[in-house]
Amino acid sequence: MKAFSFLLLPFALSLLACGSPAPRPLAGAAVRVEASPNFDARRPNLVVLHHTSNSNLDKALATLTDPGRKVSAHYLVGRDGQIVRLVDEKERAWHAGASWWGGNTDINSASIGIELDNDGFEPFADAQIDALLGLLADVLQRYDIPGANVVGHADVAPGRKTDPSDRFPWRRLAGHGFGLWCDEPLPPAPEGFDLTLALAALGYSPAAPEASRQAFLRHYAGGREYLSEEQEKALAHCLFNRKVTESR
Ligand SMILES: [Zn+2]
Repeated sequence: MKAFSFLLLPFALSLLACGSPAPRPLAGAAVRVEASPNFDARRPNLVVLHHTSNSNLDKALATLTDPGRKVSAHYLVGRDGQIVRLVDEKERAWHAGASWWGGNTDINSASIGIELDNDGFEPFADAQIDALLGLLADVLQRYDIPGANVVGHADVAPGRKTDPSDRFPWRRLAGHGFGLWCDEPLPPAPEGFDLTLALAALGYSPAAPEASRQAFLRHYAGGREYLSEEQEKALAHCLFNRKVTESR
């Protein structure tokens, strides 16, 4: 039986490799190995928030644990504040998909993904946001993640995703140090201020400037009906300054 299992091992390993392509080894290169004791585990440095688009926690759980759907997150937070862990934080949950943030294109490798059970139209329940605030405090403290690095799926996948919806209380989160926020009145941006460059400096993809601008407005200007070009620049300028200040 042991020999049989041994014979099956390469087959099992090749099956595992199908789920996620393994990095290629250094082809034919002679690599000298000198093991250093100076290392620890790689750590996430970003938190990406989502809404499930579901009407209840059980439906969301069914999707997020279905092998056929190939989607997951590290955590799912229910409307009642229940927190469900779906993927160990050390592992790479499949929540962001094709994405970009600050030049990083493998957001799943870099982040903790948190799904909030919400249908995308309803307000987010107070108990759910309270639970999220506690979870964020714990995760950011353990990995020393900057508060500015709490973003939405729509921010890292502009034009493709719109979650969490424009009902998400980003301003309330920022009041607790999670994510950036600027309230009006805002001082005007300096002469020659380039909005696309500023959005890229915040983290948005410069490859899709209009979709990035829409995601930026949905996130940071929620509730404000219309912003002039000068107001958009003033908002981006303020957020950029805040990001620089908070990362010092
Ligand atoms: Zn999402």
